[in-house]
Amino acid sequence: MRIHAIQTGRVRIKAAQIEGRGHGLWRQLQPIVSRQWAEWSPVYAWAIEHPEGVIVVDTGSGAHLKRLPRWHPYFQFAVRFDIEPEQEVGPQLRHLGIGAADVKTVVLTHLHIDHDGGLAHFPASRVLADSDEIARTAGMSGAFLGYLPNRWPKWFDPQPLAWQRTRYGPFARSARITAAGDVIAVPTPGHTPNHISVIVHDGDEEIMLAGDASYLETAMLAGTVDGVSPDEDAAKATLADIRSLCAARRTIYLPTHDPKSGERLSERRAVTTAGHGTGGDATP
Ligand SMILES: [Zn+2]
Repeated sequence: MRIHAIQTGRVRIKAAQIEGRGHGLWRQLQPIVSRQWAEWSPVYAWAIEHPEGVIVVDTGSGAHLKRLPRWHPYFQFAVRFDIEPEQEVGPQLRHLGIGAADVKTVVLTHLHIDHDGGLAHFPASRVLADSDEIARTAGMSGAFLGYLPNRWPKWFDPQPLAWQRTRYGPFARSARITAAGDVIAVPTPGHTPNHISVIVHDGDEEIMLAGDASYLETAMLAGTVDGVSPDEDAAKATLADIRSLCAARRTIYLPTHDPKSGERLSERRAVTTAGHGTGGDATP
């Protein structure tokens, strides 16, 4: 199956958001109060050329994110976007010969602003997301959590993922995205309580489009929780599940913001876990 890594501009966040420091409220405050910015990170969206139609996983960021509500401390102090309109997912897909009508399904790992930022390019697609994640965006609490549902296109009405009690590797539930059963959503709670990842089962390989389950493959391998996950234990359990998958099956792990995700996909370079040899590309 052909999978495209589409970089929709760049985002800059604090080092303490990428790899959390300390615990509890202290950890969650560091992305705002720390002065140590990380390097710019990519914002990837993914397009899967599937016989049942193109599937887009996350829609990346949009040029509108260069302006953010100033009242919110996270937006004011903790994040910067660098993206032009032609870098959004729609124009880049058109360059690949993929028009909006070809995209049958869009799956959102979660509804943070750099994952739903390109929704406007898919007015004719079925959009899938977790129902509790959708609910969390509403009202004042959603605004405090940093969701921007007021920027969604008017037509946006996502379908809830249809979870089954069917295990997929270490994951207790799964939701089929394709009738063939080769593109599957799995729960990866942590970064948000209902965060999901999408796994493409391609021959003997698992390609895991991991959203923000971790920002880096190295953080997943080390079990380091990020600076924004509300529930540290849930996040750690998810990272352990992902390591189990990687130990059992050849897995290419592709977080949205890992600078190496693009090359790992093009080289189909799998995670090497302790059981499978050395650290591979486990450089910072
Ligand atoms: Zn996120």
